[in-house]
Amino acid sequence: MAKGSVVVRSERCKGCAFCVEFCPPRVLGLSAAFNAKGYHVPELIDPEKCTGCDLCGMYCPDFAIHGYRFPKPSVAAPPPEEVTETAVS
Ligand code: SF4
Ligand code: SF4
Repeated sequence: MAKGSVVVRSERCKGCAFCVEFCPPRVLGLSAAFNAKGYHVPELIDPEKCTGCDLCGMYCPDFAIHGYRFPKPSVAAPPPEEVTETAVS
């Protein structure tokens, strides 16, 4: 199950592929499509393995991608202790 994902601002991307090279689980690839500047932009090719670590964002020289982590599912609160009434005489 994916722990995170990425946001790509394709209009800023120049297709250098630093994000692809430095992604630890290697989940990024350059898409076949072009942006308006004529560059191939990154896309998640194995989204289930993205950790949301944001290393791709740290290496991108153009602030064109960033990773983010999904919020952890909240732990269900334990049921309240059962209250038993005791007769007071
Ligand atoms: S957030 Fe981390 S795991 Fe996800 S694509 Fe970016 S570098 Fe790879
Ligand atoms: S590092 Fe940035 S500019 Fe280079 S391909 Fe990735 S998103 Fe595009």
